Amino acid sequence: MKQDFDLLVVGGGSGGLACAQRAADHGARVLLAESGRLGGTCVNVGCVPKKVMWNAAGLAQAIRDAPEYGFSVDLRGHDWAALKRGRDDYVVRLNGIYERNLERRKVELVRGHARLAGPGAIEVGGRRISAPHIVLATGGRPMRPDVPGAGLGITSDGFFELAHRPERVALVGSGYIAVELAGIFAALGSRTTLVLRHGHVLRGFDAMLAESALAMLREAGVELVTQGVPESLSREAEGALDLSLADGRTVGAVDALIWAIGREPLTSDLGLEMAGVTRHALGFVRTDAWQASNVPGIYAVGDVTGRAALTPVAIAAGRRLADRLFGGQADRRLDYTCIPTVIFGHPPIGTVGLTEIEARARHGDDAVRVYRSSFVPMYHALTAHKPRTEMKLVTVGSEERIVGCHVIGPGADEMLQGFAVAVRMGARKRDFDDTVAIHPTSAEEFVTMRQL
Ligand SMILES: Cc1cc2nc3c(=O)[nH]c(=O)nc-3n(C[C@H](O)[C@H](O)[C@H](O)COP(=O)(O)OP(=O)(O)OC[C@H]3O[C@@H](n4cnc5c(N)ncnc54)[C@H](O)[C@@H]3O)c2cc1C
Repeated sequence: MKQDFDLLVVGGGSGGLACAQRAADHGARVLLAESGRLGGTCVNVGCVPKKVMWNAAGLAQAIRDAPEYGFSVDLRGHDWAALKRGRDDYVVRLNGIYERNLERRKVELVRGHARLAGPGAIEVGGRRISAPHIVLATGGRPMRPDVPGAGLGITSDGFFELAHRPERVALVGSGYIAVELAGIFAALGSRTTLVLRHGHVLRGFDAMLAESALAMLREAGVELVTQGVPESLSREAEGALDLSLADGRTVGAVDALIWAIGREPLTSDLGLEMAGVTRHALGFVRTDAWQASNVPGIYAVGDVTGRAALTPVAIAAGRRLADRLFGGQADRRLDYTCIPTVIFGHPPIGTVGLTEIEARARHGDDAVRVYRSSFVPMYHALTAHKPRTEMKLVTVGSEERIVGCHVIGPGADEMLQGFAVAVRMGARKRDFDDTVAIHPTSAEEFVTMRQL
């Protein structure tokens, strides 16, 4: 039977765009369906606008430190609306670049909500389109809790729509998005409260990072409410919001409340049941090591699979799948181990590989040796404020192969990528020791570490 295309991609975010473009580079005839803005979460309501806000918060901190470096600065406030304008314009420019990239590669773009329509076909914009391969790359959306008044709060999507900086803001959540947004608000001058269900942030990260992140948030002036289980959200007569907690406490009054309690996959009305595609209990599309679903010819990449929800992961999975399907690279697939990531807190936090606890559980206490370093970075030698940078290397076996590399401190974001290459290549502690340091930097501590 003649097929309309070689590949149909549902979703024009990080994973879908990467897969569609790589397939087209290999000569495939590709159609991509997108119901919203091209670029998906990362470009429109994720990494990109978040990083702009992180930069702004970093500038606010630098301006505060400037007198200690001899500058006389007169900070007369901050124009949130101007920052938003610049940020939104940048995102619109990126949307246009993505569209032109598709045109250049002759990928047909269809605007509209797509759903599976029988074997080897989708329906979008009133058309039924067929192809032997279909890639689902529909991503996810932020969740709200099921409590009365939840709709009065916003999510990370709403954060990017805020026309003004709220003077008083509460965030509910303990994951990286909650930590990042709390850091941004605090640095830009909002009275910020972070409501944690338990007593910690960044579950799943190395304990050193999680503990330091909590300490840094406290130092930044973020009020931490622990054991806070939301019961309801209500609006006072004057317009402020009050969050009632299950134990009777109230967090308020705040001008904005942001739910940062996790994300769910966008799989409703996608025709999955009809096509027989199976999902995990939480709704994510179940995929194997080759990004394949249980239905031949239907694949999924990115956040919708529930595996390492990060832009470069979605991109890598999408490109490798296209290389395998259309590039003659039969063994090409993404290895999900050893994925580096950075949390854009103030300061940033970088991590790759196993946490100390994971390494001990996997390899046994006797095989694991840990190196740590804790110091005040040179930038803060002149400032009254003296946050410590914390670093950890987790090694395994008599060769001391490095299986984990963790850092919180200024520069962690740019520092980690190179170390991630070394960890991935199986570097040993000795290789780090034999590498000449770059001085004076914080990164040099990674190659001069002694066991504590
Ligand atoms: C606040 C925030 C900050 C983040 N920061 C970072 C960061 O610093 N670094 C990082 O690596 N990651 C970050 N992420 C995560 C990152 O944005 C995601 O992992 C990434 O965007 C996932 O890409 P994706 O292609 O799987 O999905 P998405 O980018 O979400 O794209 C999915 C696309 O599919 C479209 N779609 C959905 N359903 C349909 C349908 N039925 N028909 C047609 N189109 C459809 C959607 O409109 C969307 O455009 C952040 C996320 C958030 C929310």
